[in-house]
Amino acid sequence: MKWLAVTGWRRLKSFWADRSLATKFVSVYFLVGLLIVVALTWRSGSQLATALEEEMEHELEIEAFIIAGTLGKDFEDMLEYGRSPSQILTLIHQFGEGTDSRITFYDVQLNLVFSTDPNVRPHRASLTPELAAALRNSEQHDIRMDPWTQEMRLYVAAPVYQEEDLMGLLQISIPWQRVQDRINSEWGRLIVTGLLAILANTLLSLWLAWSIVRPLQQVTQAARAIAGGHLDRRVPVPGKDEVGMLAVAFNEMAERLQEMIARERLFIANASHELRSPLTSLKLRAEMLREGRLPPERQRRYIMELEKEAERLHALANRLLDLSRLQLRPETEVLEAVDVMPIARDVVETLSLRAGRKDVQLRLHAPQQLPKVRASADGLREILVNLIDNAIKHTPAGGSVDVVLTPEPPYLRMEVKDTGRGIPPEDLPHIFEPFYRVDKARRRQDGGSGLGLTIVKRLVDLFHGRIEVYSSPGEGTVFVVRIPFESASATS
Ligand code: ADP
Repeated sequence: MKWLAVTGWRRLKSFWADRSLATKFVSVYFLVGLLIVVALTWRSGSQLATALEEEMEHELEIEAFIIAGTLGKDFEDMLEYGRSPSQILTLIHQFGEGTDSRITFYDVQLNLVFSTDPNVRPHRASLTPELAAALRNSEQHDIRMDPWTQEMRLYVAAPVYQEEDLMGLLQISIPWQRVQDRINSEWGRLIVTGLLAILANTLLSLWLAWSIVRPLQQVTQAARAIAGGHLDRRVPVPGKDEVGMLAVAFNEMAERLQEMIARERLFIANASHELRSPLTSLKLRAEMLREGRLPPERQRRYIMELEKEAERLHALANRLLDLSRLQLRPETEVLEAVDVMPIARDVVETLSLRAGRKDVQLRLHAPQQLPKVRASADGLREILVNLIDNAIKHTPAGGSVDVVLTPEPPYLRMEVKDTGRGIPPEDLPHIFEPFYRVDKARRRQDGGSGLGLTIVKRLVDLFHGRIEVYSSPGEGTVFVVRIPFESASATS
């Protein structure tokens, strides 16, 4: 038994979980609405029925009293002006005309004097509750089976006085069915109203469900379309509510994804292009050498060129690998407390040779003590090598390159300043893009791949730092890198 209950419950749960959001929404709304409407209808219906019953009894009692009053008056007229009783009967008949109300008059001994209903035969009435009450000059209604018509009737009665004398009792009765009919018609009206309320509630829930489910369906469709390669698919934003926010977030995500993929495609196109030219030249040289009919002088030159080209390819491959490592698995770059000074000194010393050959002065300016930064030693070295190497490369003989390290809490500021040819303003926003070179004509001749600054930027981002560049053509360029101190990141 318990097992049955458990599996039943599980089935119900999985059945419910598989229903669409709209079905869930509408069915819950419908059920709750139904419950409320049924409870309200039942409660107000029963109250209304009681009230109606009381109202009709009360009305009948008032009617009895009014007729009894008039009848008393008529008895006086009859005595004073000699009107015949038949005239009074006519009057009474007029009261009950056209309805199934019955008016009956008894004398004080409860003998029937007359009745508007021909079914009522002469008789002596028993002391029923309403007649007893009327004799006591009070009111009481009674519902009972009518001996003449065999139907349930509602009875009320009132005493008829002439002056001070009790002349008799006036009894009015109506079929109980009449009261029931009125109550039933009120019930009918209530039920129709209830049904309308349920209908309105269901329509409202349908609309509400639709307004939530529709955008969700659109997001699902768009997600599938994007997965299928339609990267430009977006969803309409229905409003500023949570569903609207989802649509906005989805569109933003799609936008970013599209940009990212476009960037990747461009990157691959550029990388292939970069690889193709040196490979073509390698192939041509190799072919010529294979033929073996070259004078030894040219042979040696070609072999040297082959070597150089291979070296460049090697360098390019290394850079591409660096970049993809940074891009794909940035977490492999472990951040730790790093002392910049020894690294900077080492890099400057190594590159001094190259600077010296070009007759460019390379100088390092730094205070005795510098707090450690949160970075990786290899990454920092890479940043400095790239920036200083670029500066030397683009500075003509007689110029200078200054590397300045200053604490600028919470950052360490590293500045690489040269007196070189500078970067044109229109190129400045692009120099961190992959394969971007200012002097396109020189391309690979000077060994640059156009990836150096891209790698620098990625590393700086990884260290939660910032990089800026200022340049005026003909005067020189300054790269400013800020890397957070270890202490700053430890407290944050
Ligand atoms: P590359 O490896 O070809 O040098 P980078 O990404 O390092 O590529 O630099 C991109 C471009 O920015 C270079 O082609 C160069 O023209 C320009 N550039 C970089 N540093 C300097 C500098 N200090 N002075 C002038 N131009 C520079």
